[in-house]
Amino acid sequence: MAKLVWFRDDLRTLDNPALFHACEKDEGQVFAIYVISPTQWLRHHWSPSRIGLIRRRIEALTAELAALNIGLTVLMADTYSEIPELIASHCQANDIDHLFINKEVGFNEGKRDREVKAALQLLGVATVAYDTRAILPPGSVLTGKDKPFSVFTPFKKAWLRLFSSAGVSCLPRPKARQCHTLSSSHNEASSWPENIDVNNSQTVTEEQILGTLRQFVAEKVKDYHADRDVPAIAGTSALSPFLAIGAISARQCIARLLYQGSGDLSALSEGENVWLSELVWRDFYRHLIEAYPRLSMHRSFKPAYDSLQWCNDAQLFQQWCDGLTGYPLVDAGMRQLKHTGWMHNRLRMVVASFLTKHLLIDWRWGERYFMQQLVDGDLAANNGGWQWAASTGADSVPYFRIFNPLLQAKRFDPDGSFIRKWVPELKSLAVPEIFEPHKKGRNLLAGDYPMPVVIHAEARQRALAFYKGINDAT
Ligand code: FAD
Repeated sequence: MAKLVWFRDDLRTLDNPALFHACEKDEGQVFAIYVISPTQWLRHHWSPSRIGLIRRRIEALTAELAALNIGLTVLMADTYSEIPELIASHCQANDIDHLFINKEVGFNEGKRDREVKAALQLLGVATVAYDTRAILPPGSVLTGKDKPFSVFTPFKKAWLRLFSSAGVSCLPRPKARQCHTLSSSHNEASSWPENIDVNNSQTVTEEQILGTLRQFVAEKVKDYHADRDVPAIAGTSALSPFLAIGAISARQCIARLLYQGSGDLSALSEGENVWLSELVWRDFYRHLIEAYPRLSMHRSFKPAYDSLQWCNDAQLFQQWCDGLTGYPLVDAGMRQLKHTGWMHNRLRMVVASFLTKHLLIDWRWGERYFMQQLVDGDLAANNGGWQWAASTGADSVPYFRIFNPLLQAKRFDPDGSFIRKWVPELKSLAVPEIFEPHKKGRNLLAGDYPMPVVIHAEARQRALAFYKGINDAT
């Protein structure tokens, strides 16, 4: 009899409980699979760059598993509903008695896994599941009344208490197996979706990703608190694409942070502390989405906000997507997203606030567009970020936080260099003209840069009235 490891959003050999425990006993064969699901991915709006990254990571993972004498087979099931039968027949064909998985975040993913477990049970195949959805498992960080937290700061306090007592340890890569499994098979490679990003052919080995982590912790984390808000500085880790597909775990990130320092959470520097907080935000949103299934169903965290009557102007939405709003920092961010599949966190907040508060366009439109573009698209973080920006989510600050895109530009891109990079029509402008190119008339502009699509002061008043309506009603 043999064991099967089903890789999903855990594309790594280190700190991977499903792989580690499948390999615990020296004897017996261990097989691995990955399932491509093009139609399901389309329904979840996965971007071509994210799928391209997965494909490149699968290539590297195949080699990393081969070194452990484990063959990885890439299978194909168009939607999740086809997966139970597919895996059941794979288990039968390969004499499998145990399936090993790491749980995934999301309502559909949970349902799919329950159906797989039931189908395998009928064949006498046991499913063994580990919880790697967050650093501390969803459901484990609760209020004094055993309820999930809905505000970040008390969540973080409780999280730190639990984490300090549990500590962090990462599982090693399993030892190479004595007996080989079948050679790796990518027979279904032609089934990778057609719109995949093929421009980037760089391999993504686990060593390279760990190298990025080590370098960030050694060189940049000390200044993270100061640099992380300046889009023109590469002051953040850039690990989000790898965390999103599980090519590295958040646990590994914290372990590295502690390994580099004294090993004590209370002795972290300011930069280290702020970076740790971001990893806790990641956990927070993962806990929320598991505690409130409506978040996986396009519903607001605050149910009353589902009745907001968004304006949803399709033309304004397109101008926002194209980076043609006439607000230079918003446009720079949107163009960075379109061209690279990634956007700096400060700009994600600014453009999301602009879409929802200045243009009164439904946060779900923005959430979907982000998923369609982002290489690090992540259901929980994206939903959490959008609902935070739209004030429909778990947030202690009420709806009247409305970012002023002009002040944000002056504060976080003070010399205008980020704007100049992504909005080349404005590259000949100096500070302060670059922040308000329209102010001195269109003849100031080298290219055809648009006038602002809304006037900030008017848009702000409109947003306040729009949200006040719902707050008065609740
Ligand atoms: P670092 O600053 O180095 O942070 C380290 C890691 O912590 C990140 O890689 C990420 O995994 C996590 N993290 C950091 N900030 C946050 C945050 N605010 N919320 C949750 N996790 C965080 N992040 C995604 O990974 N995928 C998304 O789809 C996504 N969508 C977002 C949408 C909006 C509207 C907003 C405001 C934020 C979104 N974020 C998302 C969070 C954040 O912008 C990115 O995680 C961050 O920019 C990634 O860059 P980094 O890896 O250099 O992060």
